[in-house]
This record gives sequence, structure tokens and C-alpha cells, in this order.
Amino acid sequence: MRYGIFSDVHSNLEAFEAVLDAYKKEKIDQYIFAGDIVGYGANPKECIKLLREINPQAVCGNHDWGAAEKTPLDYFNDYARQALIWTRDILDEAEIRYLADLKLIYKDNDLTVAHASLDDPQAFEYILDLQTARKSLEILETPLGIVGHSHVPFILVEEEGYPRALKEYKVKLQEGKKYLVNCGSVGQPRDLDPRAAYCVYDTQDKTIEIKRLEYDIKTAQEKILDAGLPKNLAYRLGQGT
Ligand code: ZN
Repeated sequence: MRYGIFSDVHSNLEAFEAVLDAYKKEKIDQYIFAGDIVGYGANPKECIKLLREINPQAVCGNHDWGAAEKTPLDYFNDYARQALIWTRDILDEAEIRYLADLKLIYKDNDLTVAHASLDDPQAFEYILDLQTARKSLEILETPLGIVGHSHVPFILVEEEGYPRALKEYKVKLQEGKKYLVNCGSVGQPRDLDPRAAYCVYDTQDKTIEIKRLEYDIKTAQEKILDAGLPKNLAYRLGQGT
């Protein structure tokens, strides 16, 4: 089984199309989406359409539920809130319903997925340190846990009850160990690498890899400016912040 795992598309059609194109060469059996298809970018409708076409197992991000009015707008910072109000206005009822119906958590025999910290998915707590990561690993019942939300990719392994960060972005999973992976962001990377991030998990050869991909950042930026969204949301795409 080969999983195509990705997160945080954030209405960035150029990045999403590039990643889906790259996935065509990966022989993916099942797509997994870790949340935030909308917010920040200029193409929410097109991104929702593409997401539905690949029929992923998908969980909700805070922006998805924000657009569907299930997460209150005062939860968000100014830029995110402005983009969400803009997004809500252009989505139709069916698109809002799709976002509202996304579940908080997905689990099968191979992996568990939530947008943020697994121990309380509804709180959308960022995993930015090993202490927070530990809470997710403790309750993890599958070999692999997948999160997004911070837009910063990582692969952690649990050893003697404690998480350890691995330096590699391609890792061979060892039998009996648990791993927590942030698959990074397709549409708004924040690890100072502006390239789109996406992930492939192969259960046969037990490897997980986070890959990066150049895409047409300039067009995505121009669309954000043309839509009248905050300028900062265009600028940061070029910086990977
Ligand atoms: Zn996000």
C-alpha cells in the first residue's frame, strides 16, 4: 500500500496542482489529507474540487472549520480572519457542507491522522516541541501518526517513551516503534523553504519520505494580490514563512 499524505493546501491552486502532478508518478493507492484545504490563498473553490476528485481520507483543519463557522473567527489572527471572511463569501453551500462534514480524526491499521495534536484534535494545538509531541505519541495506537498545522515538516520516533527528532526526511520505519510525522504544507510552507511539501508512505518497504517541489509561486502571489487579500499572504509564499 502506498499512501500519498499531504496537508495545509490553503487555497494555493498552483502548489496543489504541482503536488498532484508529482503524485501521478508515485503509484498512490490512498490519499490522506491532514486538513486546511482553504484559508490564506485565492483559489478555495478550485482546491476543494481537486481534493474531492482524489477522494482522500480527510480530516478538518482549523481553517476548514473556520470557513464552515464551526471554529469561531476570533480564534484566528487578523490575516487569517480576513482571508476566511473572503473565503466564506465565495464558497457555495455544498462546499461549506463538505468542509463542515470533515472529521477531526482518521484512523486505520497503518496510521492515525489529525490536523494538530492527536490527544485533543478539537483544540488544534500546535506541536512545536517534544513535550507536546509526546502527548500525541502516548495515545498513538498505530505505528504512524500524521499531523499538519504548523507547516513545518518533521519526523519523530518514540524511544523509551520519549520522542526523538530525526534529521532525515526519508526514514525506514522499524518494527514495534511509533513515529509522529508532520508532513509539512503544500500551499504555505513555513520552514524557510518555499517549495511545496508532500509525503509518501509505503507500507511494503516501510519507508516514509517528505518531499519538496518547486511550483509557480509568482502566479499564486499575484492571485492573492488581485483578490484583495492581505499583501503579507502573498509575500510569505516567496519566503517560506
Ligand atoms: Zn494551516
